[in-house]
Amino acid sequence: MTGRMKEIKALCVYCGSHKGTDTRYIDLARALGTELAARNITLIYGAGGIGLMTEVADAVLAAKGQVVGVIPDHLARAEVRHDGLTETVIVDSMHQRKQIMFDRADGFIVLPGGLGTLDEFFEILTWRQIGLHDKPVVILDCAGYWQPLKALLDQVVSQGFAPHSSHELYHFADSVLELFDILEAAPEPSISAPTERF
Ligand code: AMP
Repeated sequence: MTGRMKEIKALCVYCGSHKGTDTRYIDLARALGTELAARNITLIYGAGGIGLMTEVADAVLAAKGQVVGVIPDHLARAEVRHDGLTETVIVDSMHQRKQIMFDRADGFIVLPGGLGTLDEFFEILTWRQIGLHDKPVVILDCAGYWQPLKALLDQVVSQGFAPHSSHELYHFADSVLELFDILEAAPEPSISAPTERF
C-alpha cells in the first residue's frame, strides 16, 4: 500500500437531506460519524439538521468530534440549520458553499442521498476530471443504493463518452472500514488550483 505522507484532517460528506426508506442508511451514516470522530477527522458538511446529514453530524458530536457546517443563508430555515456544530459558516450562495466545503476538505465521501447529493458528487468528480484537484472521492455504498450510479458510470465509459481512466477518478466502498483503507492508500493530493478557475 502506498500510504500518504500527509494526515487526513478533514473530510467532506455529501448525503441526503432525507433519511431514505431503509434504516441501514441511517446506521451507516452514524457509523461513519463515529469513525470520523475516533480518527480525529473533522466532518465538513452542509450544516443541515435533517436527514442523513444530521445523522452523520450528531454521531460525530456524540463521540466528541469536530463538525464544520457550511450553509447559505436562504437554506438555513429549509434545511433546519444544525445549531450545535463546532463551527458554522454562513455563505451567500450554493456556489460559495461548495467552494468552502471543497477548500476545507482533504477528500470527499458520498453517502446515499438525493438530487443535491448527486449534483455535489458530479461536480466534485468533474472538477477532478478537468484537473482542478486530485483529492480522493469515495462513494460509500449501502444496501446496493449506489449500484445504478456505478452502472451508469460504467456505461458512460463503455459507450465512449469518457476514457477508461475516468474510473480512476472515484472509488466505491462497501463499508466504513473499506472507505478508510481507500483513503489511506490514496496518493497525497498535489494539485492546488487557484480558486478563480472553479
Ligand atoms: P439531497 O441529496 O437532495 O437531499 O440534498 C443534499 C444536500 O445537497 C442539501 O444540503 C442540499 O441543499 C444540497 N444541494 C442541493 N442542490 C445543490 C446544489 N445545486 N449545489 C450544492 N448543494 C446542493
